Amino acid sequence: MKRHFDCTACGKCCHGWLPLSISDALAHADIFPLFLFWMPVRPGGKSYDLTRELGIELKLKKRKRAAVRVFPVSYVPTHISCPALQNDGLCTIHESKPQRCRTMPLSGARAESDQLDLLIPKPDWDCDVSDTAPLIYDDKHITERQNFEDERQVLIADSKILKPFANLMIDGAPKLRMDLEKVANRPKGGHLILNFSTLVPRLADVDIFKLAKKQASVMLHFADQTAERTEFSDEHKRYVACAQDWQKILD
Ligand code: SF4
Ligand code: SF4
Repeated sequence: MKRHFDCTACGKCCHGWLPLSISDALAHADIFPLFLFWMPVRPGGKSYDLTRELGIELKLKKRKRAAVRVFPVSYVPTHISCPALQNDGLCTIHESKPQRCRTMPLSGARAESDQLDLLIPKPDWDCDVSDTAPLIYDDKHITERQNFEDERQVLIADSKILKPFANLMIDGAPKLRMDLEKVANRPKGGHLILNFSTLVPRLADVDIFKLAKKQASVMLHFADQTAERTEFSDEHKRYVACAQDWQKILD
């Protein structure tokens, strides 16, 4: 199966939550509302072996298990645009945009052989998938590899920080293990969301006060954007609570 793809820079995929590397999260902490996603995958699920390699393996009840990957996210509600997106569909941080955006539509968090479904644009996206666009995937092999390889290397580097962090958190928080087990057992899967501040003590050379100042302001901005919108009430509560947590660090 061959897939052609070219980005026409319509900006239509620049909505909703965006996975980030640790360095991309820190570099753009003044605009992205940062959280940590914990995403379990059951054996047989998409890219299970890679998820276990980049994340941790969790033993569940009845001799079951799950692989769990932890990663930073710009947690923007579905249908709300990325804070870096301009009205004309262009990216205001194009020169320093996150590695995830550079690799789109491929994903370094998926096995190379498991990319096909990612290469089918949503109906309202203006991606060029005609035969005249560059060939990017051919018989389960990526033909334009550079961004994919770059993202994979970043994920491997981040995993050296995120794996011990995840194990430490799970050992110290039995409720987290129980909640992950519940998510892992859901037929459709899902994720847990924790505050990004839980990771900061594991990061070298981060000025927590500078970060807290940026994030308290970003969270209040998103709390405003989602206020009085019932469809975003869960996100709204999360932004408000997270703004308070960052503010406590500043006080
Ligand atoms: S950072 Fe730029 S390219 Fe990435 S989602 Fe936001 S607007 Fe789009
Ligand atoms: S929807 Fe497709 S064409 Fe539009 S910005 Fe995203 S990748 Fe590019």
